Amino acid sequence: MRTLFLHPPSYEGFDGGAGSRYQARREVRSFWYPTWLAQPAALVPDSRLVDAPPDGLTLEDVRPLARDYELAVLHTSTPSFPYDVRVAEALKAENPRLRIGFVGAHVAVRPEESLAASPAIDFVARNEFDFTIEEVARGHPLGRVLGVSYRDDGVIRHTPDRPTLEDMDALPFVVDVYKRDLTIENYVIGYLLHPYVSLYTGRGCRSKCTFCLWPQTVGGHRYRTRSVGHVVREIALARRYFPHVREFFFDDDTFTDDLPRAEAIARGLGRLGVTWSCNAKANVPPETLEVLKDNGLRLLLVGYESGNQGVLNSVKKGVRLDVARRFTRDARALGIRIHGTFVLGLPGETCETIEETIRFACELEPDTIQVSIAAPYPGTVMYRQALEHGWLDGRELVDGRGVQRSALSYPHLPHTEIFASVETFYRRFYFRPRKIFAIVGEMARDRQVLARRLRDGAEFLRFLAARRAGENRSGPRRPLPSHH
Ligand code: SF4
Repeated sequence: MRTLFLHPPSYEGFDGGAGSRYQARREVRSFWYPTWLAQPAALVPDSRLVDAPPDGLTLEDVRPLARDYELAVLHTSTPSFPYDVRVAEALKAENPRLRIGFVGAHVAVRPEESLAASPAIDFVARNEFDFTIEEVARGHPLGRVLGVSYRDDGVIRHTPDRPTLEDMDALPFVVDVYKRDLTIENYVIGYLLHPYVSLYTGRGCRSKCTFCLWPQTVGGHRYRTRSVGHVVREIALARRYFPHVREFFFDDDTFTDDLPRAEAIARGLGRLGVTWSCNAKANVPPETLEVLKDNGLRLLLVGYESGNQGVLNSVKKGVRLDVARRFTRDARALGIRIHGTFVLGLPGETCETIEETIRFACELEPDTIQVSIAAPYPGTVMYRQALEHGWLDGRELVDGRGVQRSALSYPHLPHTEIFASVETFYRRFYFRPRKIFAIVGEMARDRQVLARRLRDGAEFLRFLAARRAGENRSGPRRPLPSHH
């Protein structure tokens, strides 16, 4: 079937594509690659991948595409689902013969409710959907495709689960799809060099953090990996396709889950002479850090989450604060940059633990930080806990502009407090003389950094102001504007 893979238009600047773990509009314009859609797109000949938000496409822009295709696969998420349904309805109205399927963790967890949301959705593909979509696109009857839930004469049916993908090298390269369909300059992440390219070298994470969506839904808790040669060949190809790319990012949940393999990939990359970065847990030993650094590693994205051991334990993070401190010292000593991510409002959080986390971040001194609000996604242990304990009271994960809000509220720590503490955290971390000097020094050394930091800084301050205003107006969700 002629197949369109679509990340639908949504909130303006919404980083909610098939590569974003926590879908929200970020502090500064930011987009991850739609890798989860590029993987099946690479399996379906002559398909097309359209990533609407980074390309600034509105519903009016994508609606006419419905006439050119027989199958549309839309990636959705919990915060964007109502919008995505409206896009599906508009496509169906344009071409009633178009078969529409939804993919993503949200529909994997809630296949029944997702299908019930609109007759425009013909099927949803659960869990790992690459080969599910390939079979649907080949025209196999839905009832014979593993891992789908579909509507059959008004009745919702589920086929058995598809076995977990073990041969990860069976997934074709995504960079061919990136080259064919994406404008790579539109993908921006504040702390990565621009332009960057990101992809996965494996799926799954060995840790069991209770808040983390992908390992509890689409990825699982075994780190299933592509072979070293397969990864290195794809990066070599990417470099030929995109000679101007300044950085490659490995967005595996925890690239450092398998240390000997991480070192082997690093050596392959070192031979290519590329600059690269990846996600890491705050427990990588110095010997490995050294190998990675010697072979082109520039930055680690590290989920510290909290500066309170009790909170880390309550979410099963599996990291000790003293280990995180030592790891950070080692990485900094080697000249590896760190983007540290923190979460406020996790179970066990109090005003005191928030204060401890802010101090911890200032002590660790990552180069940049991201402060998120704990987001209870359906399918996670934290979501079930929230339901059991009555921590949810109907608030959405994002506001009418797509900005994160606190859906959790505790008797001792109201959601308003959690929301307000994000800004306090950013201000206390960035508006310190030491940090300001470091940033100004970096800007003085590099004109490109100067331009980018000035632009990002202004956007960041505007974001904080708009965020405050948005929370004060926190009314019902705004419907999809007509120009979207
Ligand atoms: S270590 Fe990171 S990716 Fe793995 S489960 Fe925890 S938060 Fe998720």
